[in-house]
Amino acid sequence: MKKQKLEFYKSLGLKLTPQRLAIIEYLEGNKEHPSAEDIYNALKPKFPSMSFATVYNTLEILVKKGLIKELNVESTRKRFDPSTHPHHFFCKRCKKVIDVDNQINISVPEQLKGFDIEDIQIIFYGLCSECKSESK
Ligand code: ZN
Ligand code: MN
Repeated sequence: MKKQKLEFYKSLGLKLTPQRLAIIEYLEGNKEHPSAEDIYNALKPKFPSMSFATVYNTLEILVKKGLIKELNVESTRKRFDPSTHPHHFFCKRCKKVIDVDNQINISVPEQLKGFDIEDIQIIFYGLCSECKSESK
């Protein structure tokens, strides 16, 4: 990882262990919307002593710092995305999360002005084109 980036993460007050760095690097530019389990399984060979809790806690911290987004598309497991724009499609059959180009402008409703808005979640639900044709 570049020194500049290391400084950036350090400036956020993140303790940078090798495991944490590996988690951050795994997520950078990742478009697969991995769950904590996916990340754990991918990094396990390289860090056999790493616990699942380490992965989970690191993800929670990154979410809190606004560096990644937590997607509540499934009731069973959370998925994570380094891209924090709020537009996704979730296929309820194959569980794919697809990035939707950001073309929708959302403004905070008048009623909520003066509130502290931390997040807006917009998720399109349904069947992707592949699952749609399979179900016919
Ligand atoms: Zn599908
Ligand atoms: Mn995404």
